[in-house]
Amino acid sequence: MSDEPKDVLMKDLFTKKYSYFFVNKHQKDPCLYLVNNLTGRACLFDLGEIHSLSGRNLLKVDTVFISHTHMDHFIGFDDLLRINIPSFKLKTLVGPKGIADQVYHRIASYSWNLLEKDQVQFLVKEITSNEVKTFLLSNTTGFIPQPVNASKDISSGLSYPVLSLDNQDEIYAVILDHGIDSIGYLYKTASKFKVDTSKLESLGASQGKWIGELISKVESAQFEDYINVELKDGTYSRMKVETLYHRILEVIPPRSFGYITDFYFSESNLKKLKSLFYGVDLLFSESTFMDEDYKKARLKKHLTTRQAALIGSALKVDKMNIFHFSRSYPDEKMVETEFNQFFDRFKTLDSSRLDHLIQEELQRIKE
Ligand SMILES: [Zn+2]
Ligand SMILES: [Zn+2]
Repeated sequence: MSDEPKDVLMKDLFTKKYSYFFVNKHQKDPCLYLVNNLTGRACLFDLGEIHSLSGRNLLKVDTVFISHTHMDHFIGFDDLLRINIPSFKLKTLVGPKGIADQVYHRIASYSWNLLEKDQVQFLVKEITSNEVKTFLLSNTTGFIPQPVNASKDISSGLSYPVLSLDNQDEIYAVILDHGIDSIGYLYKTASKFKVDTSKLESLGASQGKWIGELISKVESAQFEDYINVELKDGTYSRMKVETLYHRILEVIPPRSFGYITDFYFSESNLKKLKSLFYGVDLLFSESTFMDEDYKKARLKKHLTTRQAALIGSALKVDKMNIFHFSRSYPDEKMVETEFNQFFDRFKTLDSSRLDHLIQEELQRIKE
């Protein structure tokens, strides 16, 4: 297989609004690129080596989610930093406890005497078991992490997002055990609204700019407002947002995907996964080792194909996309094939049969 960048092979995620791709082949460093096609803004999940990512795409990145800072997940940080200088725009970086200091040390290893005030700034969010702490790292204060307002309490079970984006998409997190903390992320799109065009008839209304105005008022909960509805005869009728909402709008429910990597198969990791990822539309999961290497997987605190398939089935995910394969295998196809065989079988099982297989696997790796 050629080593050409996969950069161009974007895939639709849910709707044409989002596209994603893995920057590298699955036996290389993890980095999942997600772009919102409407805003042109992108985020990364992990930041391994990214030399095959085009500068054009890298410049669109404004938010980065890091699972943990093993080198294969964080070595690309310098490339992100480098390409954004001199015209740096604030970047948000989310990761495990201690990452603000780690970012500081990475940046502090360079000399920065020629920058202007506040030219390079990172907002860093650290996820701990009971709160999200936010720090600002700015060249003006020598990049030393400065705590930003009150930290967010998430001790009541991660029911609050660790980050909300401008377009109301939300990101939730869970801390998995990889010997060190490894953060799993859930990305949830906001509910959206669209007009049921068949219902426009009953109002005698025609399509026009007013529909956009209506949707934006509904999305910002301004139900008491009135807007001018364009009628078929070219006149306007003034109607309440709440009435229009009930009569002609349809809700597009939120969609979600999970990104989980670098953790081992255990009862407690499974429990945490169930608390956040149950029923997600798509799950990106590591699947580092083949089934026969389950002992190695336990030692290195990673999953096997069988374990990834058991997890996806237990979480009742609609689709699974595996990545982060060991380089010890001659090609990535063999990992994918073995995974698919397991997943196709496990996802059809009833929950008691599946639980039995999970217990069997937990027992096997203990021995
Ligand atoms: Zn890794
Ligand atoms: Zn790791």
